[in-house]
Amino acid sequence: MAYAYDPQNVFAKILRGEIPNRTVLETAHSLAFHDIAPKAPVHVLVIPRGPYVCWDHFAAAADDAEIADFTRAVAEVARIAEVAPGAGGAGYRLISNAGANGVQEVPHLHVHVMGGHPMGPMVLLR
Ligand code: AMP
Repeated sequence: MAYAYDPQNVFAKILRGEIPNRTVLETAHSLAFHDIAPKAPVHVLVIPRGPYVCWDHFAAAADDAEIADFTRAVAEVARIAEVAPGAGGAGYRLISNAGANGVQEVPHLHVHVMGGHPMGPMVLLR
């Protein structure tokens, strides 16, 4: 199984501090920041700090501490954004696009945390 990580991708540049971001949460192994082109009132991206291309790469190569940190960071972002049902929020949707058919634009694993209004049908097929 081969994953070619491109260290020049935009999220790698954010992690190195080469381009700015609007940070929502920083943890030992994860970073969350507002999407630059939000598609919902709440649209936050959560990324691992490690060089992982997509979800299956992360699951195969990350250690348990990274995976636990990332999983909890996503939930913490939902709580911070006041969309977590367990904390009285109205709910959210998680999206993680992978590869060509997933229409992944940035080749560094990220989870979109989206909410703030009803998210509509799960997908629109063309
Ligand atoms: P995806 O299609 O799942 O790879 O999503 C990539 C997301 O990254 C899109 O929603 C973009 O709006 C977002 N994005 C691209 N560049 C930046 C940036 N510099 N800061 C924040 N979000 C970005």
